[in-house]
Amino acid sequence: MDNNSELPIQTEQLAGGTVSWGVLDNIINWSRANSLWPLTFGTSCCAIELMSTASAKYDYSRFGFEVVRASPRQADVIILAGTIVNKMAPVLKRLYDQMADPKYVIAMGACSISGGPFFYNTYSVVKGADHIIPVDVYIPGCPPRPEALIHALLTLQMKIKSGLTREQIRAVNYDYENNYK
Ligand code: SF4
Repeated sequence: MDNNSELPIQTEQLAGGTVSWGVLDNIINWSRANSLWPLTFGTSCCAIELMSTASAKYDYSRFGFEVVRASPRQADVIILAGTIVNKMAPVLKRLYDQMADPKYVIAMGACSISGGPFFYNTYSVVKGADHIIPVDVYIPGCPPRPEALIHALLTLQMKIKSGLTREQIRAVNYDYENNYK
């Protein structure tokens, strides 16, 4: 019998052929994690880094994120890349509400985390996306590099594969060496 560390099934060679089995929850989580379709919400300069992450050099399609959707009804994770102004806040809330569960939110860059350089003396900027919708993953930086976005996406994948709920995803740090800490 051999264990495939990626696909959560086990296989065994028997006289009549090969038998595979696994826990249905694990297979569903594995499938879900490997097909996270992003809904883009690129509102300013961080969106350039997001586009770069999708381009040939970084190519996040290697990990199952290539099907970027324009419709929230077909998306699993919304990537907030850029400044969120008060005028956009109700639109963001509506997009989030139209996404089907389970859904995840990534705040990419200082603006979507806290308002960024517009935190002070700006009447029009929302000081953090979590004032509008729940955020699961925060990526610091102004802007974060594509490697940081890929790291965030892969960490989210690992947590989903582990069967964590959204609340647990937000609460638990992932350590690639020792799983959780
Ligand atoms: S965090 Fe920096 S790079 Fe990103 S949208 Fe804000 S100002 Fe632009």
